[in-house]
Amino acid sequence: MVRIGIGYDSHRFANDRPLILAGQRIPHPQGLAGHSDADAVAHAVIDALLGAAALGDIGTLFPDTDPAWQDADSMRLLDLARARLAAEGFHPAQVDVTVILERPKLGPHKSAMAEAIRNVLGLSAGRVSIKAKTNEGMGFIGRGEGIAVMAVATVESS
Ligand code: MG
Repeated sequence: MVRIGIGYDSHRFANDRPLILAGQRIPHPQGLAGHSDADAVAHAVIDALLGAAALGDIGTLFPDTDPAWQDADSMRLLDLARARLAAEGFHPAQVDVTVILERPKLGPHKSAMAEAIRNVLGLSAGRVSIKAKTNEGMGFIGRGEGIAVMAVATVESS
């Protein structure tokens, strides 16, 4: 059986933080604020996977009140979410991500981001898609206050 999940995340930009998306350190004057490494791409993908398997959300699996997840590598959280699905008999089949931000341009980083997610989830080439777009200058994203990420994941019963 094929199941589909959706994930969303947003984080605000902050000084003195690295910008990490899908585990890739992306050159930019600001990073994202958050309890973990604030990897909004990893977080949206985790929620899409958990949603597809009806296993709750990232906040219940990795509470931001838990010091264990302080500055956590979110790609490790993605691997733990993958293991959680596997324990319930699900495996990821495909992931599609849209990152919405004004700056920086992600074009040069998209293939590395997709490969990093594929490696964690054990997916072959062409099974993970990373897309990026601006918000046409509108709202909090347009003002450069933060970014948002949407993800859809397909999972199959093992
Ligand atoms: Mg988040």
